[in-house]
Amino acid sequence: MRQDYKEIATTVVNDPTNYKVCVVCGAIVDKASPTCPDCLAYRFDSDPGRVADRAVDMAAKPQNAVSHHDTLE
Ligand SMILES: [Zn+2]
Repeated sequence: MRQDYKEIATTVVNDPTNYKVCVVCGAIVDKASPTCPDCLAYRFDSDPGRVADRAVDMAAKPQNAVSHHDTLE
């Protein structure tokens, strides 16, 4: 998933009920996914307010959101 974080954030903020936040790594995950694609956790916070907050946070600090993947290169 290599999209612009601001674009993702806008989508998520407009429709937070379709997403949930992974409580382990903080990734925003599609509500249809049974597990987190990043860390394979299965515990999520699906509160729409929390999801929207996290999306805004991610757009503001994209490095934090993807640090564990970027360092692999
Ligand atoms: Zn995760």
